[in-house]
Amino acid sequence: MSRDTDCIFCKIIAGEIPCAKLLEEEHALAFLDIGPVARGHALLIPKGHYQTLDEMPPEAAAAMFRRLPELVRAVQAVTECEGINVLQNNGRIAGQVVPHVHVHVIPREKAGRFSFNWPAGQYEEGQIDALAKAIRRRLSEGEEK
Ligand code: 5GP
Ligand code: ZN
Repeated sequence: MSRDTDCIFCKIIAGEIPCAKLLEEEHALAFLDIGPVARGHALLIPKGHYQTLDEMPPEAAAAMFRRLPELVRAVQAVTECEGINVLQNNGRIAGQVVPHVHVHVIPREKAGRFSFNWPAGQYEEGQIDALAKAIRRRLSEGEEK
């Protein structure tokens, strides 16, 4: 499994830095975020070192994401929150600080501190079809780049 010796999450995986562990298996680990935006804010990470989601092979992504529903259920049950946001930041512009893929599980309540903007826009005539076509074409090319 790939590892970056300078990576803080790789150090957590290796047990070199402690964490409040929630679940652990061969390819995935979940623990509480040390700087929670809400009580119970958890992180789910792959054990292999991938900086961003697009770098992950499907098997590694599947091994991580398959644990997400049960983690969401457990955090929701224990914190008794009203809802959960699942957030996954890729790249600095998207708010990623730790360059090891991680999925945020964030409990939400009306009085909570965490919120975000959702500035919904709209497409010009024909734009949505052209864009969808370009993305479909890219998907059909598979892994070829
Ligand atoms: P990002 O902004 O990269 O999406 O999120 C990184 C998250 O990792 C932050 O919420 C931050 O609080 C958390 N974090 C950073 N270092 C540590 C650490 O050493 N232990 C734990 N448990 N969380 C960390
Ligand atoms: Zn790492």
